[in-house]
Amino acid sequence: MPRNIVIYWLLFAMHLGLHASTIPSHVDIGIFSGQNLRKFSFVPLTGRYIICDPDHKKVTELKPFSSIIVQRQNNGFTIFQDDSVIYTGSDITLQGGAFNNSFLLVPMDRNTEPRMYDGDLTISFSDRRLGLINTAPFESYVAGTVQWESGHNRHEEFYKVQAVIIRTYALSNLQRHRRQGFHLCDQVHCQAYYGKSINPNILEAVKATRGMVVTDHNNKLINTVYHANCGGQTVNSEDLWPHSYPYLRSRNDIYCRSMPGAQWEHSLSIADLRRYLSHAHNFQPNASQWRHIETLRQNTRKHHIDPERNIHLSEIRDHFGLRSTYFSVTPRNDSLHLQGRGFGHGVGLCQEGAMQRAEKGYSKEEILSFYYLGARLTQWEHQPLFRQEK
Ligand SMILES: [Zn+2]
Ligand SMILES: [Zn+2]
Repeated sequence: MPRNIVIYWLLFAMHLGLHASTIPSHVDIGIFSGQNLRKFSFVPLTGRYIICDPDHKKVTELKPFSSIIVQRQNNGFTIFQDDSVIYTGSDITLQGGAFNNSFLLVPMDRNTEPRMYDGDLTISFSDRRLGLINTAPFESYVAGTVQWESGHNRHEEFYKVQAVIIRTYALSNLQRHRRQGFHLCDQVHCQAYYGKSINPNILEAVKATRGMVVTDHNNKLINTVYHANCGGQTVNSEDLWPHSYPYLRSRNDIYCRSMPGAQWEHSLSIADLRRYLSHAHNFQPNASQWRHIETLRQNTRKHHIDPERNIHLSEIRDHFGLRSTYFSVTPRNDSLHLQGRGFGHGVGLCQEGAMQRAEKGYSKEEILSFYYLGARLTQWEHQPLFRQEK
């Protein structure tokens, strides 16, 4: 092979390798996604904000606590400052101009709590809606998400575990909302992110694990799915989803069984279940088929409500809003009494099991390799900051 082609391929391979193992400095999050805000105020908290129009022309500059109000109109939005209109249009960027920039966003047309964010805000109008994108430092997004996905007053080692798997999950899904012009949404569809965290224990855990991700032995990010409580047994990925991952194996978990999400009960109307089976699956169980359904027992996890049709329990869970698929059934008059275990889909890391393991002194490595079999912690580097200070 000619020498220059060899060099080209070497450079290309190095580029791929570098690209594959780095973390972007910032991430674009679609915030208040699905809420269609009509009116809100934007209040800089730290740093300063430069308002730029689509031609990158500066409209004005905001210092901390000098707020503006954004109001949606029929074909765009208007920005007010001290009751005067300073901008009317359909696209604007509020760009941080100092090293640390944070702001408060206060919805004024509904009863939603104000939220705090680091970084920039882009506002655009399309399809009669305001689209808000928060461009946040990657690790600030991780800390915010740790808070909203795992709550306050958790063990520091558990926060480290959450930081690592949230970082990994975000990196694996950066293309999810590409068509909408951002990387990730702020709902559970991606991961819950209702603003930055100021919880010192969470910030410390994120800092201590900065750049750490979970990979397989080829340094490839693994799919770090998680759920609230597995009920004592996690689920093989292929028992719920189309893909089989070697690290998403069913494991017996003794640590979550006394936690708040471990048990539940529910009464399901027999008529409703029969109607669902008939409409969704054209299935009218005869006496012996119905007997299987009304006496379903799960000492270990099963995946189908009936032995013949293979109607997946996850469909029943989704349709009837059940906490999990891990339940046993007892007939009671005109309803079925469900006694269930766990909360969530059951694949990957069980949060309440991981919390208990952290309390009992397990390390993040031990916790991660239990729920993600054979996976390991790997250090990735952040790409340098892409923007100049103004
Ligand atoms: Zn999403
Ligand atoms: Zn568990």
